[in-house]
Amino acid sequence: MRWEGQTATHVDVDALPGLEERASVLESWPTPGFDGASFLEITARSALNRVPGDGFMGGSWTINPYRGCQHACRYCFARNTHTYLDLDAGADFDSRIVVKANLVEVLERELAGPRRAVDAVQLGTNTDPYQRAEGRYRLMPGVLRALARHGASISILTKGTLLRRDLPLLAAIARDVPVSIAMSIAIFDDALQQEVEPGTPTTRSRLETVRAVREAGLDCAVFAMPILPGLTDTREHLERAFAAIADAGATSAIASALHLRPGAREWYLAWLRESRPDLMPLYGRVYGRGAYAKREYREWLRERIRPLVREHRLAPVRTMAGTGLAAPPPRATQLPSTSEPAAASATLF
Ligand code: SF4
Repeated sequence: MRWEGQTATHVDVDALPGLEERASVLESWPTPGFDGASFLEITARSALNRVPGDGFMGGSWTINPYRGCQHACRYCFARNTHTYLDLDAGADFDSRIVVKANLVEVLERELAGPRRAVDAVQLGTNTDPYQRAEGRYRLMPGVLRALARHGASISILTKGTLLRRDLPLLAAIARDVPVSIAMSIAIFDDALQQEVEPGTPTTRSRLETVRAVREAGLDCAVFAMPILPGLTDTREHLERAFAAIADAGATSAIASALHLRPGAREWYLAWLRESRPDLMPLYGRVYGRGAYAKREYREWLRERIRPLVREHRLAPVRTMAGTGLAAPPPRATQLPSTSEPAAASATLF
């Protein structure tokens, strides 16, 4: 394992930000009530990661409080990052969670430093900031407060209903800085959702969280993605999905076909081969050896979704360069009243 044999002064230049030093590992143990997960607490050396490309509002950053995710989505594109730690992209990713225990302290130090103009920060670009571990470690409130004090706009993407815990704080922060919240809800079939995303909150509870975000006076996007070929791309499923998203009061929506990048590809296709071998030829046609659905499929899917977008009065949502996360509203934007009808929007790609 890469961490073995390292000393207090050793720095691994290939390691992920915050995991360079073996000496930073504090504790690791199985934790009752967390489905057999182990939390590996580390002292991170950095909290902010620069987003490649131009970013948003002149500079964009990400923060990932955790590595690995108990939500355990079979299609998760972050799986491969666990292999950088010499942990596997499958069961280890789902159950051996790296926690940046000193994240808030490091973030405050970085924000106070003279070097960086941190205008926009995205949470949820790699792993879920409101995954189960957050219930135990409560890192997000400190992160949000630190960013708000600094004046940085905040963008959150999550499947975690734990987000509701922080809604009063987010509503207060949104008076001072732009806040963008997006719930990821892709599967509107309970049995399938439990199979494909076995550690996530139910679709119903995520839709209720969308409602709660709106009731807190904040906009809420829904990322209805990934759409799974042969499983969630039927007309009936998509109609149900967009109707439920609109009914929950989402202010915008975005949809996209499944990506099968290395790491996610092996894990997802292994599950598909086991559970739905009849669909393997379809995936062969749609993806070949590539990570992305072929253009013909994407166009077919777009045509299937377009009428639903019209029916539910949906229109484009702005996303941030580098990550595709929903962009925060401009600083001058007034927060909508929850009594107003949702001005919903959607982007398809
Ligand atoms: S919630 Fe997000 S980060 Fe967590 S396993 Fe699912 S796709 Fe990956």
